[in-house]
Amino acid sequence: MIRKLVVVGGGTAGWMAAAALSRTFGSAGYSITLIESDEIGTVGVGEATIPPIIEFNQMLGIDENDFLKAVNGTFKLGIRFINWSALGSDYLHPFGVYGVDMNGLNFNHHLMRYRKAGGNADFGLFNPQTVASRQNRFGRMQEINPQAPRVNYAFHFDAALYARYLRAYCEKLGTIRQEGRITKVEQNPETGDVTAVVLENGKVITGDLFIDCSGFRGLLIEQTLKSGYEDWSKWLPCNRAAAVPCDKAGPVTPYTTSTAREAGWQWRIPLQHRTGNGYVFSSEYMSEDEASSLLMQRLDGKAQADPRIIRFVTGKRKQQWNRNVVAMGLASGFLEPLESTSIWLVQEAITMLLRYFPRDGITQNQRDCFNREMLGAYDNVKDFLIAHYKVTAREDTPFWAYVKHMDIPDSLAFRLESFAEHNQPLVRNHELFKDASWFAVLVGQGMEPKSYNPMADVMPQDEFRWRMQRVREGTAGLAGMMPQHEAYLAKACPSPQRVTV
Ligand SMILES: Cc1cc2nc3c(=O)[nH]c(=O)nc-3n(C[C@H](O)[C@H](O)[C@H](O)COP(=O)(O)OP(=O)(O)OC[C@H]3O[C@@H](n4cnc5c(N)ncnc54)[C@H](O)[C@@H]3O)c2cc1C
Repeated sequence: MIRKLVVVGGGTAGWMAAAALSRTFGSAGYSITLIESDEIGTVGVGEATIPPIIEFNQMLGIDENDFLKAVNGTFKLGIRFINWSALGSDYLHPFGVYGVDMNGLNFNHHLMRYRKAGGNADFGLFNPQTVASRQNRFGRMQEINPQAPRVNYAFHFDAALYARYLRAYCEKLGTIRQEGRITKVEQNPETGDVTAVVLENGKVITGDLFIDCSGFRGLLIEQTLKSGYEDWSKWLPCNRAAAVPCDKAGPVTPYTTSTAREAGWQWRIPLQHRTGNGYVFSSEYMSEDEASSLLMQRLDGKAQADPRIIRFVTGKRKQQWNRNVVAMGLASGFLEPLESTSIWLVQEAITMLLRYFPRDGITQNQRDCFNREMLGAYDNVKDFLIAHYKVTAREDTPFWAYVKHMDIPDSLAFRLESFAEHNQPLVRNHELFKDASWFAVLVGQGMEPKSYNPMADVMPQDEFRWRMQRVREGTAGLAGMMPQHEAYLAKACPSPQRVTV
């Protein structure tokens, strides 16, 4: 029987896992213990999310405004990419589709007909997140006008406060928090299963199922069980980040900004009380000192600390569930935060663990199902990230010349070929990034499909023009209903530390 659940690590992944397990099993005779070490600390970054986090909060029964006040949270409608396809280029990858399906056909094909017939090339005019972002607006549509279509959103938040918030949530539900450094891992000599972890002070914590959220080191999944790591550095060569928070310098934008730089890219994440910044770069093309110095020169507010360097190797753990250990978060692999996917991968791992949760002992089939799901999720995100680098006109630095000309995985090559040929990048139902996301990013990066679905040409020209005009006006109207993001935050969920500029 699996009854004693032990979460190793109290970063974002550990507390998210503990929260979901406490909510699900806490009242059903299971014990949930989380071990963390203040001395080791957490990675302390990871502040931009994507829309599925809303479902995670709902599953936990968390009130969204209460949560946002506690974590200095802001709203996010997408990611703005500057200088990615060429120096001076600028596009948004929004959290939503363009237009509405017409005659049963994805709007992206109608957009291609429109563009090829000389229509306005600015596709953003057909997407409410893009229009609202350009005007710094945000509001939850279900509050503003419940009849209006929903406009997807996500959050930016302070990672340390998020872990603290979830800790309070877990402790209320009976999760036992154990402070201390694990110095020894005990295994069953016959099966190899982990039976207990031993803390520096000698305390032994036994368990039936261990969730390894110990960060990059992978204390159980790698250091103990040697599950193996697939390295993706040849496709995603960035392996360092310099990170620093700065003072808020203007009204909060409702999007994350990613600006391509000499040897990688820089993030900007606006919170209610400060702005998070980081330069993600490849150490083959730039030194840590140079990246830190360039980052400090490019902040839009006064730095609040010295830059901190975080080192990583992009890739995935080959077995995400091995024996009685399930890895989540950085222990399971790492993909740079270009599309804010790491917290989602934690959420997905929690969902999959609950889906395949063992009843009477763990079976190999349960492990296999979990591994297939999670390895597939990692692969799909990986391809999407690589596309941002590969599809570019930039060759102005050795880094950009490398990524533009590098070999790419066959799976991505096939997708790019499909998109270039007929505007359909072969997206399967279970994938995180749907057609609209591929369309936004590939067109944003400068790709132009040669053709599109002929069903888009069936509508008579006059009707087509009229309907496109209506969609465009409807989009502008929807965005126009939203207040300024800053005003909405002040009303809906002001945090005690909120700074107005
Ligand atoms: C530069 C960078 C930027 C990022 N940006 C984003 C983003 O914008 N959006 C996003 O979704 N994700 C982002 N991420 C990823 C995100 O930060 C992580 O997915 C998330 O924080 C989860 O981290 P973690 O909990 O797995 O690990 P950690 O935060 O490293 O936590 C590890 C935990 O394990 C404990 N531990 C380790 N060893 C021991 C031991 N021996 N004994 C006891 N305890 C131990 C530590 O004390 C700690 O509590 C980013 C990551 C990086 C590196």
